Amino acid sequence: MYELGFLDEFLKLPHQALNKINACINETITPIADLTALPTQCKFIAFMPQWDFLNFIAEQAKKYPSFQLCMATEATGLVETNGVITGVTAKTATADITVSADLVIAADGRFSTVRDLAGMHVTDKGVPIDVLWLRLSKQATDVSATLGRIRGNRMMIMIDRGQYWQCGVIIAKNGLNELKQQGLAAFRAYLVALAPFLIDRVDEITDWEQVKLLTVQINHLKHWHRPGLLCIGDAAHAMSPAGGVGVNLAIQDAIATANLLAEKLRTDATINESDLHRVQQRREWPMRVIQNLQAFIHKRIGLGSLETKQTSLPMPVKLLRHWPLLQRLPARVIGIGLRPEHIQTKDAWHTS
Ligand SMILES: Cc1cc2nc3c(=O)[nH]c(=O)nc-3n(C[C@H](O)[C@H](O)[C@H](O)COP(=O)(O)OP(=O)(O)OC[C@H]3O[C@@H](n4cnc5c(N)ncnc54)[C@H](O)[C@@H]3O)c2cc1C
Repeated sequence: MYELGFLDEFLKLPHQALNKINACINETITPIADLTALPTQCKFIAFMPQWDFLNFIAEQAKKYPSFQLCMATEATGLVETNGVITGVTAKTATADITVSADLVIAADGRFSTVRDLAGMHVTDKGVPIDVLWLRLSKQATDVSATLGRIRGNRMMIMIDRGQYWQCGVIIAKNGLNELKQQGLAAFRAYLVALAPFLIDRVDEITDWEQVKLLTVQINHLKHWHRPGLLCIGDAAHAMSPAGGVGVNLAIQDAIATANLLAEKLRTDATINESDLHRVQQRREWPMRVIQNLQAFIHKRIGLGSLETKQTSLPMPVKLLRHWPLLQRLPARVIGIGLRPEHIQTKDAWHTS
């Protein structure tokens, strides 16, 4: 946002700023990441609803003369000419349309239609968890010092949204049916075991309709491209919620794509597969390191089994407690990433 020149306007949107990440592990509040010393403009994470973030980006993008956003338009097919992808077909509320393109970029997430239509298959790492997404009211006396709550082998993320808590309850993969069979009362008790202060409001959950299942995957494509097509973000490599870095990686993929390809596209030069491969080469190793880290985390915490067994603090957490400087390391991975990307195309687009 800072590099694009939008930061001041962006921070006018309602948000919660978090400069230290704590977790509550077996009722002990313990520091995980300290963002206050990050070598970047904003030394905090800004939490805001996704729609505010996306609407803001769309409004800013509309200021670019060559930008066009088609809302409620679903890519449904690929146009292929002599083995090269040259566009997509799409469905709008009123018509079927065709969009021709020098380059199609599939940024349509972990269930990517475009990737599937191109016959590209992901290698799955296998994740043992899913997430249940629900809201509970927030009260003036609540302390919002912690982002994650772990008890035994259960885990829940609690994001302070001002008026309410946005909760992400980690459960075993395909475990929702088992929870449903045990009933809402047992589920409410499950939540209270993780966060005892919720006891006075878990009754707000009166129907499973209030509990959304978000399926989690970790996977990646071997080749992110085909002639005329490049996959980025989750379409190329689905990230799990662990560490809250999937959005960063997707945005960094987009910046790297622009840095490496925009000038060629602007001057009407042909983009060949070796150009597309340069994007994969640049972004692949940070993605792989983070996916391995996420898989490691999933093996150890958040399996969400119904038995709660008390354990002492894990060794890495003990180290973070005793050596506060170490908290800068997770802060860097979360806040900046392993291979930060910087916008190099701003002037080119302004003058186009
Ligand atoms: C439960 C869960 C929680 C997570 N929590 C976090 C977190 O807190 N922080 C974090 O950084 N990451 C988190 N992640 C990971 C993060 O969501 C992804 O890594 C990130 O959103 C990927 O961004 P993306 O733009 O590639 O895909 P997405 O964010 O999935 O965006 C894809 C877009 O494409 C659109 N689309 C799909 N199909 C079509 C089509 N056929 N035509 C047109 N448009 C289409 C979709 O509507 C969507 O707008 C979480 C993941 C999961 C599963």
